[in-house]
Amino acid sequence: MKALVYHGPGQKAWEEVPDPTIVDDTDAVVRVDAVTICGTDLHILKGDVPAVTDGRTLGHEAVGTVIEVGSSVRNVKPGDRVLVSCITSCGACRFCREGRYGQCLGGGGWILGHLIDGTQAEFVRVPFADTSTFAIPEGVSDEEVLMLADIGPTGYEVGVLNGRISPGDTVVVVGAGPIGLSVIMGAKLFSPARIVAVDLADSRLEAAKQFGADVTINPSREDAVEIVRGMTDGLGADVAVEAVGVPESFEQCTALVRPGGMVANAGVHGVPATLHLEELWIKDVTITTGLVDTYSTPTLLKLVASHQIDLARFVTHRFAMADFMEAYDVFSAAADTHALKVVLTP
Ligand SMILES: [Zn+2]
Ligand SMILES: [Zn+2]
Repeated sequence: MKALVYHGPGQKAWEEVPDPTIVDDTDAVVRVDAVTICGTDLHILKGDVPAVTDGRTLGHEAVGTVIEVGSSVRNVKPGDRVLVSCITSCGACRFCREGRYGQCLGGGGWILGHLIDGTQAEFVRVPFADTSTFAIPEGVSDEEVLMLADIGPTGYEVGVLNGRISPGDTVVVVGAGPIGLSVIMGAKLFSPARIVAVDLADSRLEAAKQFGADVTINPSREDAVEIVRGMTDGLGADVAVEAVGVPESFEQCTALVRPGGMVANAGVHGVPATLHLEELWIKDVTITTGLVDTYSTPTLLKLVASHQIDLARFVTHRFAMADFMEAYDVFSAAADTHALKVVLTP
C-alpha cells in the first residue's frame, strides 16, 4: 500500500510500504476512507517531536472501514464504518478507568503517527480496537466525523470544559486556528454573553466570526487587555483559552482573565512561558492544562448527528491521497491558502 512516511526533519514521502496486519488479538485493520493533516504533523516534520523516528507513517485522524479484526475483538467487525481517534485506549489501566485515555499506561494514549504507524495511509492497524474506535451513526458524513478524531474533542475538552465556560461568560479565545475555532464552536453550546477571538491574522479573525465570535481583536494594532476590560466593567474575561502554543499567547491569557477566572491552555508548547505569579498569586486564577482524552467523543457524535454542531465547515480543501504532498503544501501555507482542514480520500 501507499503511505505518507516521515524521513527525519523536513523529509517526507508518499511511498510504497508493507500492508498492515493483525499483530495483537485486540487489533483491527481499517481501510482509510478519509484522512486529514494536523498542526501536530507539521511540528513533527519540523523535528519538534523526537519520539517520531525515520520510517514512521504519520497521521492520527481517520474515518474508515474495518477489514479485519483480531480474535478477541468484540465491538467491531469487518464492514463496520468507524472513527479512528487520535487517542488509543487500552481500556483497563488506571487512567483509562477514570476516562483519562490520553494518559493511558497500557500501551495507548497518542500513539498513532507518533509511536506506531498512523492513518495517513491506505490502511492502518488500530490497537485496542474495541475501546479505540467509535461506530459512526447513520446519516453522518465522513468529513463531519473526521473532525471528531482530534480537533472536535480537543477544543471541547481542553478549552470549553476545562475552562468551565458557563452561561453569561465573557470568553476570550487567543488563537483562531482550527483548535481555537473548535473552542468557539463548543463554547456556543453554553450560551456565553460574548466570545472574543484574538489572532494576528485577519483572515483567521474572519473565520472566527463565521464560527460565532462576537468580537475580534488583532493585537498587532489593538490592545486586547484594554478592549476586554472595557467590556467587562474593568475586570477581564471569565475564561481565557490559549490556542496557539507560544509564550506570548499564554502570558496574554493570564493578563486577560479576571480575578477568580479560568485560563485553559489548549496550545502545544515547545518552549517555556513565564508564569507571572507576582501578579497572579492574589487573583484566585485557575490555570488548566491537558491533552485530549476523547471522553467527549460520544457526546459530540450525538451533537453532529442531530445537527447541533456542524464540523464539516472546517473542511476548506479536498485532495486525492495520491496528492498527499500537495495537500501538505496547502495546509502548511495556511496564511496564504486560508486552509483550515484538508481532507484526503482514496
Ligand atoms: Zn492532531
Ligand atoms: Zn489505558
